[in-house]
Amino acid sequence: MGRLRRTEYEIVPRESFSVIRDCPGCNARTHFINTGKFRINGNGKKLDVWLIYQCEKCRHTLNLAIWKRVKVSSIPQQEYSRFLNNDEQLAEYYGRSIRLFQKNRAEIDPGRLDCDFVKCDDTTQETDCLDQTVIIIHNPCELKIRPEKQLARVLGESVSRVRKMILEGGLVQVNASSRCIEFTSARIPELISRSL
Ligand SMILES: [Zn+2]
Repeated sequence: MGRLRRTEYEIVPRESFSVIRDCPGCNARTHFINTGKFRINGNGKKLDVWLIYQCEKCRHTLNLAIWKRVKVSSIPQQEYSRFLNNDEQLAEYYGRSIRLFQKNRAEIDPGRLDCDFVKCDDTTQETDCLDQTVIIIHNPCELKIRPEKQLARVLGESVSRVRKMILEGGLVQVNASSRCIEFTSARIPELISRSL
């Protein structure tokens, strides 16, 4: 009889994403940051809602479209009033919503990403096989972080040590996509279990 331990993590950004792009004001590539404010434009019965980003050097604005030419009635009433009130929490939510940046073709600077690896599940069960540890890391924002870097974070190990474990077969990659990676370890469960 062995034990199968399964731990799951989720990568959660700590703050709004920074956009990197050419700023017409600075005539250079700069960072644009979340102002925490929305802009609403009415055009007949159609509405546009943007989240306003700003060049951190010259304050040139970059509007990220959340809603484009939609009827007022298609925006949930509660959300609409939060737009009107420049609700900070909602601005933070959209500032970490990867879809918004993809839709607006706004490039996120990976060098400025600050995120937490939050443990969301940890179970152990008896199996007929040998001891095994499964590590799953969910990446709902599809942040571009190399798998060995992600593992290093949850294991509290250096990236080079993790790379060595992978090379030597101590950690085996089962699945890797932009939204989730999964590794198993049979050879050194004690080592892994200690740090998880
Ligand atoms: Zn600028």
